[in-house]
Order: sequence, then C-alpha cells, then structure tokens
Amino acid sequence: MTEQNKEWAVGIDLGTTYSCVAVWQEQHCRVEIIHNDQGNRTTPSCVAFTDNQRLIGNAAKNQAATNPTNTVFDVKRLIGRRYSDPVIQNDLRLWPFKVVASTDDKPMIVVSYKGQEKHISAEEISSMILIKMREIAEAYLESPVMNAVVTVPAYFNDSQRQATKDAAIIAGLNVMRIINEPTAAALAYGIDKRANCVGERNIFVFDLGGGTFDVSLLTIKGDVYEVKATAGDTHLGGEDLDNRMVNYFVEEFKRKTKVDISGNPRALRRLRTACERAKRTLSYAVDTIIEVDALSGSIDFCSSITRARFEELNMDLFRKCMETVDSCLVDSKMDKSDIHDIVLVGGSSRIPKVQQLLQDFFKGKDLCKSINPDEAVAYGAAVQAALLSKGNKYVPNLVLLDVTPLSLGISVKGDLMSVMIPRNTTIPIKKEKVYYTRNDNPTSVLIEVYEGERARASDNNLLGFFNLSGFPDATCGQPLDVCFSIDENGILSVSAEGKTNGNRNEITITNDKGRLSNQQIMRMIQEAEIYKAEDLKYQKKVKAMNALDDYVYRIKNAIEDIDNAQKFHPQDKMKVILAIAKVRNLLDASQQTGTEVFEDYLNELKSLIEPVVRIS
Ligand code: ADP
Ligand code: MG
Repeated sequence: MTEQNKEWAVGIDLGTTYSCVAVWQEQHCRVEIIHNDQGNRTTPSCVAFTDNQRLIGNAAKNQAATNPTNTVFDVKRLIGRRYSDPVIQNDLRLWPFKVVASTDDKPMIVVSYKGQEKHISAEEISSMILIKMREIAEAYLESPVMNAVVTVPAYFNDSQRQATKDAAIIAGLNVMRIINEPTAAALAYGIDKRANCVGERNIFVFDLGGGTFDVSLLTIKGDVYEVKATAGDTHLGGEDLDNRMVNYFVEEFKRKTKVDISGNPRALRRLRTACERAKRTLSYAVDTIIEVDALSGSIDFCSSITRARFEELNMDLFRKCMETVDSCLVDSKMDKSDIHDIVLVGGSSRIPKVQQLLQDFFKGKDLCKSINPDEAVAYGAAVQAALLSKGNKYVPNLVLLDVTPLSLGISVKGDLMSVMIPRNTTIPIKKEKVYYTRNDNPTSVLIEVYEGERARASDNNLLGFFNLSGFPDATCGQPLDVCFSIDENGILSVSAEGKTNGNRNEITITNDKGRLSNQQIMRMIQEAEIYKAEDLKYQKKVKAMNALDDYVYRIKNAIEDIDNAQKFHPQDKMKVILAIAKVRNLLDASQQTGTEVFEDYLNELKSLIEPVVRIS
C-alpha cells in the first residue's frame, strides 16, 4: 500500500478544553502530532454560531468574548449525562451559553444560528469538534481519513462512552476503539521507554487537564499493559484554576472601581482568557501582568499576580489532587515505593506546585515529563490506531488491557447491589451467576442493571432494566442464569435465562435514557452534512463578497491615479462613483443577498468599468 492510497487511521484526544490529533507515520516510524491551520498542535474544543456561520476551534474561541451566549465549550462535561444530574446543575451557573432539558431529561444547548433558535445535543457539538480534527488530519495527510481511535477519561461511565462513540459516528468516523486517556498516555510512554522495560513495571499516570483529572495505575509486563486501578474527578482541571483567578480579579476590580462584573458574561469571558494566559505564564515565571482594555464600559483593567498568590488561591484543589493519588494507590493495594515511573499528562500538570506536591508524595522520585503532556494522549491513541490497522508493520506489538471504572451489578431483594463485575476488573470480560426468582412475584423477574459502589442499588446509577417472565406461578425460587459481558470498548450487555423454562431476555446498555436512538443518530448525520454544506455556501459567499470589495478598492486606486494625471472625464467618473455606491449598498445588505448576485454584479461591474478605467 502506498502512502497516497493508504487508509489512514488517526488517534484523537477529544479533550474537555483542547483536542489533539496524531497519526502513526510508518515511513518515519514515529507518531506525528498534527498542526491545525493556525499552526497549533492542540485545538480548542469550542464551537460557535453566528448570524452567518458556524465556527470550530480557534476561530470559535477567538470570538467568544463578543458572542458569549452562542459560543459552546466544555460539552464533555455534558455528554452522556442527564440534565437533572447535580454536576450539570452546578455547571450551568458558570456557562455563558444556555442549556435546557429535553422531554427525556437530555441536556440541550440553546444557540442562535442564522437568526434562528437551535437546540443542539452534546453529541452533535462533539461531532463538530471531531469533524474539525478529522479535517486537520486530512489537510496534513492530503487524503481522506475515515478511521480513528478516540479517547475518553477513565472515569467515563457506559453512557458517556456510548455518547462519545455516537459523536464520532455522527462525524462520519469509523471508531476503531474507544480507549481511556491515561492508558493511551502510558502507551505513548511505553514506546519511548520500551528499551528500559525489563520485567514488570508499575506506572502511575497523573493527568490534570482543562476539565478532568484522572490518575491511573498501570502495570507493564512484557508487551502487555494492564490498568490496575483508576481514580479521578470529572470536575477538576485547569478551568477551575482559571475560575479561581477570575473570581480573585472580579473582587479586585470591584474594590478598585466599585463595578461588579460578575453578571456580565462578556467581561467575564475576556477576563478568563487573560487569566488563562497569565496562568500559563506562571508555570515558568514567578509573576505576571494581567491587562484587559475596556473590561467594563471604558474602564481598563491592569493588575499583576505572583506565582505564590496563584498557588495560594488553588492550594485546596492541588491537595484534592493528591488525595485522589493516595486513594488510587490504596485501591490498587500498592505502596508508593512499588511505583517505578510517574507520568505527567495534561496541560495543567506543567504547574510547578503540582509537580512539587506529586514529587514530594512519591518521596522525591523523578517525574517523567519527556512526553509533551498535552499530546501524550493523542500520541498513544495514534499508536493504538496503527496497531488496529492492517498493513502497519513496524508498530511495536503491544496489547492493551483496560479496566471497568465502576462496579456493575443488579438489584436484588431489599434494594441491595449484587456486584457481578467489581470495579477495576480487566476488560473484555464475561461473568455468569445464578439468581432465584422471588416469592413476591414468582412468575417474572425484573433485572435492573446498576453501576456504582454504593451498597443500596438505588443509590447507584441505573443503566437499564428488562423483564424475564414465564415462570410457573406456584414455584418461587426458580433459578436463572444472569450473564454480564463487556466488550473491548467497555460496552456492556446483560442477559438472563430461566434454567427451567429456557426463556431468555437481554439488553445491551445502549438505550439508556438520554442516549441517542439510531434514528436520531441518522438525523444528526444528515444535519452534519447540512451544516457542512452551509459552511461551504457561506465561504463561497464571503469569497464573492471579498472579490467584489477588492475590485472596488482597485477601481478607487485607479481613479486616484487618473485624477492625479488629470485625465478623467467627469461623466465617466460619475458613472464609476455610482457603480461603487451600488456595490456598497449591496455589501451592506449582504445578509439578504445571494452569492450569485455578488458574482453577477462583479461581472457587470467589470464590463462597465473596464472600457472606462484600466484596472491593474
Ligand atoms: P483537556 O484534555 O482536559 O482538554 P489539556 O491536557 O489540553 O486538557 O490541558 C488544557 C489545560 O491545561 C487548560 O486549562 C490550560 O490552561 C492548561 N495549560 C496548558 N498549558 C499550561 C501551562 N504551561 N501551565 C499551566 N496550565 C497550562
Ligand atoms: Mg486531556
């Protein structure tokens, strides 16, 4: 297979705040992190809607301050969750965009696009980001890209994984596998260090990104990676650190100017952008200046912050990270001294205080920073994609084993959680257990599937349920086989079969409330096409408008030249001025004007002008 007609498979780190795409280049025998059109190696996970167009990535983030209510970010916090989820309810207050509940309790983002109100799901927004990542890869590889490995936080539950997969399907991608972010990072790390990897090594992956925090303990034995334990917080990351700094400066601004900007989304957004920049600077400098012109009305804001103050503002969050590190070790029944390598992942792991606390925790052990922390996940995903593709000969032959992040089981008498698959079990896995019908309703059994660690089943997360009926009325205590199986993508199927009557029923946990149906996915795929067509149409229109504008500019220059030479006939000059005025009117009313009108007028203008004025 040549590089030209090769079926490319990429790795995509679909991050809460930033996304990254990478590809295994067999020619060069290495992973390439792909730059976007702005020359950046990571792309903001941000989508914006305006009266004219849809924007994705840097273009969306750059206009966030002027269009805050229609600029959507952080959707990874929404994906696969219900609107009534307390985490969502908490986040709603921080977002400048509006989120409402659909009839089935799915969060829907409300935006104004081309003057119309639109309700868009988190899956669709994620699919738009994935399309952008795919386009970035296609532009670089100069070839279509269909196949991808997409990563999710280790803490994502079944419905969040499913929803991410749906997003990729809507984006028209063939999802080769969904893998955990820390696992991908460790895979990337394994490649760098494979020469040193003799015997068994325990690796601790510390991933502090923009919106999520994950720690994982992995063991490498020969070629096999095994995830021994995971822990984390889906709501802790660099954005929380930004928020602290934003609040700090909101207070300072209030003190200095008596103006409270806490209810002003545009001002907050601009201040947040400046804070994020300052935070990045504080990772290498001990103090920095923060400046925002016209933060409120005509009042400029200028202040400074030291690294020490930044650390003080966030110390409790940093400590929380270390508690999670500790609990992950306890879970895996390992001691600090059993850890061979500590791997830093995620942009926020560059913060010196975080590194220092982590290093202190591990009694001064060196941290591995050789892999660029923002790129390690995409790097590993690209390696996994290459492993799953046919035709790549030189990729190191590693096998990935993942674990279930939460215990899975069913509800038994007394609302008790009977665990079938304990958390941190290596997947894929299949487990069977015999249960008995109950005497309160001997003819049928309701199988309720839960995930979570609480003893009371209903305190856990209900994934789905089904009925198994047809047992003879008189005989309670009929045996039935219940089987749980999880495939390599972490997707769960549950079946139950009566041992005496042979009746069988099963579910794949795909129709979780809030999950998209096949029809909805199909509809969204079609809508994605429409968005794309609209984007193209708009780009074509802008091109036509620019061509016209440019031509007028050149006419004006030509007129000036002629005027200078005193050779212009007054009648001709009037003709030209009128034609220019018409263009101005046309461009002012561009909203209602079709692309062809601009194109036609340009031709008309050319035939009118060219006999009179020579345009260079
Ligand atoms: P995610 O995968 O969660 O989207 P990333 O790993 O890309 O996140 O990290 C993004 C976060 O890292 C952002 O909050 C960003 O502000 C932060 N970040 C990036 N570079 C630095 C730095 N040099 N110092 C501190 N924080 C940083
Ligand atoms: Mg990340």
